[in-house]
Amino acid sequence: MAKYVFVTGGVCSGLGKGITASSIALLLKAKGYKVFMQKFDPYMNVDPGTMSPIQHGEVFVTFDGCETDLDLGHYERFIDEELNYTSNITNGKIYSSVIEKERVGDFLGSTVQIVPHVSNEIKNKIYEAATSSGADIVITEIGGTVGDIESAVMMESLRQFRLESGRENSLFVHTTLVPYLFGSNELKTKPTQNSIIELRRLGIQPDIIVTRAPIDLGEAVKKKISLFGSIPPENIIEAKDVNNIYQIPINFHKQHIEDIILNQFGLKSGKSNLEHWENLIKTSESLKDEIEIALVGKYVELEDAYLSVKEALKAAGYKYHTKIKIKWVNSEELEEDNCNLKEIFKNSKGIIVPGGFGSRGIEGMIKACEYARTNKISYLGICLGMQIAVIEFARHVCKLPDASSREFEELCVNPVIDLMADQKAIINKGGTLRLGNYKCKITKGTLAYEDYKTEEILERHRHRYEFNNNYKELLASKGMIFSGINPESNLVEIIELKDHPHFIACQFHPEFKSRPTRPHPLFDSFIKASIENKK
Ligand code: GLN
Repeated sequence: MAKYVFVTGGVCSGLGKGITASSIALLLKAKGYKVFMQKFDPYMNVDPGTMSPIQHGEVFVTFDGCETDLDLGHYERFIDEELNYTSNITNGKIYSSVIEKERVGDFLGSTVQIVPHVSNEIKNKIYEAATSSGADIVITEIGGTVGDIESAVMMESLRQFRLESGRENSLFVHTTLVPYLFGSNELKTKPTQNSIIELRRLGIQPDIIVTRAPIDLGEAVKKKISLFGSIPPENIIEAKDVNNIYQIPINFHKQHIEDIILNQFGLKSGKSNLEHWENLIKTSESLKDEIEIALVGKYVELEDAYLSVKEALKAAGYKYHTKIKIKWVNSEELEEDNCNLKEIFKNSKGIIVPGGFGSRGIEGMIKACEYARTNKISYLGICLGMQIAVIEFARHVCKLPDASSREFEELCVNPVIDLMADQKAIINKGGTLRLGNYKCKITKGTLAYEDYKTEEILERHRHRYEFNNNYKELLASKGMIFSGINPESNLVEIIELKDHPHFIACQFHPEFKSRPTRPHPLFDSFIKASIENKK
């Protein structure tokens, strides 16, 4: 039977609950256990796919095409396991499913209620994650803050879950804030105390408290939290502020969080295998060089909108012992007449145009792409970034000044990026993009082949529009290389340019498969080329 760890949060959001959950999972995996992770998001959207990245950060996509919360990206990067549809549950999903069941008569005449029908549905999602993954331990993080009206039913379900499974099979980790007051120069435990009381009001007594604080707690503060929270002092785990999130698992390991968990579960706690992670920390702390990469997008006011891209760049930098300084460029600013591209990109050794939706800021991205092409600066285009590269090339090299994408111009004369027939009939916005893994066949002798060193790859997608194959011949005749093609649909997956040291763009999202200890081949070669560019 599987064991279950639940991670809740108190006091306020943004304390690093996702990193806490990921770190715990990583440490349990390092002990040799098979782990699986899950995030419960208490909003009414079925998934974050329809939300603005500026509100909610990036939408992470699993291999099986589930659009998920960005915390799933942390999970995959920390535990290096592919997660799936059972990994992100929202109130929207839960309620839709209950209502669907009611409509087909599944509840056999009974009054459908929050308890037990909705709470059962939630608990089933936890059990389902355990059975479908075959994991020894499932770690479930609950979004939001304890006491939120949105998450009340989810919390109630966890209370019931504990009752059903017992303390030896389920464990609660509660993350809180211990603020420091300047002036009186002291840490304050009251918010943590109140947050534990709030959790108890919902019928849940935490087993472990993770405290976020700017400095060490010290014995007296720990004692106080222990007394008021009814938690043994050794079960109070300090999450002191760090510059590098990858440090957190090591800090937790030093406080034996995984031993406390395994002990409660009655599971054996052998030697930890953390060498790969310790090496990662060493590398990330001893970077010798630095290069600037310009990231041109329209959501740059919120870095989290490009979280996986940022992490993938960092990971590739680690491989070359180089710190990546990202210059965040708002593409709309590049559209202004007096904008000086030379000045903006003067220190940038590479330009990246990541994914995005809608027509705002597009012309600025095209300008940035043209700058990279004509000035021979390394370019990596991701999804929208590939579509931009195609439009730019069609307009300025193939002399089709009105080339565009059907997404930005419905009546476009030269739609080099277009909607495929199967997408035209779709009315619903949610969950209807081309999502998840698709095959791509790579041509030997290309940059892409040099990067991947294999002829067939699987990459994750999230887009509606595609390269229009009617323009393939023309663009190829002018020097565009179509190095990656989907073998089933013949859709273009990767493009390159002949007369350029490093210009590559892909229709998929390589950032989702990059790991801190194993950078993605496309990011790897992009950073390598950018470093060479510097020299
Ligand atoms: N908006 C484009 C499309 O739907 C690109 C999507 C993306 O960059 N993820 O095809």
